[in-house]
Amino acid sequence: MAFDGLAERLQETFKKLRGKGKLTEKDIKDAMREVRLALLEADVNFKVVKSFVAKVSEKAMGTEVLESLTPGQQVVKIVHDELAALMGGAEAKLNFDPSITVFMLVGLQGAGKTTMAGKLALYLRKRNRKPLLAACDIYRPAAIKQLQVVGKQIDIPVFTLGDKTNPVDIAKAAMEHARKEGRDVVILDTAGRLHIDEALMLELKNIKAAVNPREILLVVDSMTGQDAVNVAENFNTILDISGVIVTKLDGDTRGGAALSIREVTGKPIKFSGTGEKMSDIEVFHPERMAGRILG
Ligand code: GDP
Repeated sequence: MAFDGLAERLQETFKKLRGKGKLTEKDIKDAMREVRLALLEADVNFKVVKSFVAKVSEKAMGTEVLESLTPGQQVVKIVHDELAALMGGAEAKLNFDPSITVFMLVGLQGAGKTTMAGKLALYLRKRNRKPLLAACDIYRPAAIKQLQVVGKQIDIPVFTLGDKTNPVDIAKAAMEHARKEGRDVVILDTAGRLHIDEALMLELKNIKAAVNPREILLVVDSMTGQDAVNVAENFNTILDISGVIVTKLDGDTRGGAALSIREVTGKPIKFSGTGEKMSDIEVFHPERMAGRILG
């Protein structure tokens, strides 16, 4: 499960701390060293770890904690609150336009973009929206078919113009189609590549300029740890994304990507993918995540 490895390590550290009555500065220093190692092992960005541990240490060394009757618990609470803050604090909501809303999903190949397009469509329909999926990946041979299979599975229409039309024109036509058919959210499944390349980025920028998406959501595979963070930084610099979706959290015992992305990019994680089924999508709640890590 998500964060299991990290959770286990931190909980072990804090069990020791909780077991003590009064805490000395050395107890806190030792605990902070373990927190630092646990976060680094979880593949959290090293700059993020550094500033996190500095913040927590400063608060934990305060006389309020050292002189309290339950200092161990106080330290755990500080770590909990800082972990939640690190992941963005409050839950980040999706934004909608009054008429037709466009959500553009971007990301590298294999991150789980097409799967997430379906999950998001299903999530929105459950909330009384009328989504339309649009196939803008004309390069990967099976991409259109894959989206159609997903659409069929959840009974949500898929717009395609085949693989001979420019993705910018497909995106525009999808909006027109949505208008005619009374659909209120268009989810664009865009092309991914194995690596970020200029042609891909230019195409994504052109789609953005043509249809003015309300959200540009970057889909990253949480299992790739710091690579996912680097991808997020790159996409954000070029496209100014509005949020991130981390997939495959179900198999990620470390959680380094989920813990670093907000701090590194300044952009919130809005959803997580937690399995291969269409219903395996969760709104990303930083507080709950922090709670899960600390048990
Ligand atoms: P795309 O190339 O970015 O469109 O990626 P796909 O949507 O084709 O997903 C790649 C693989 O990851 C597929 O086998 C999916 O079933 C799998 N996948 C996607 N999301 C998740 C998830 O949240 N958890 C797990 N375990 N697998 C996922």
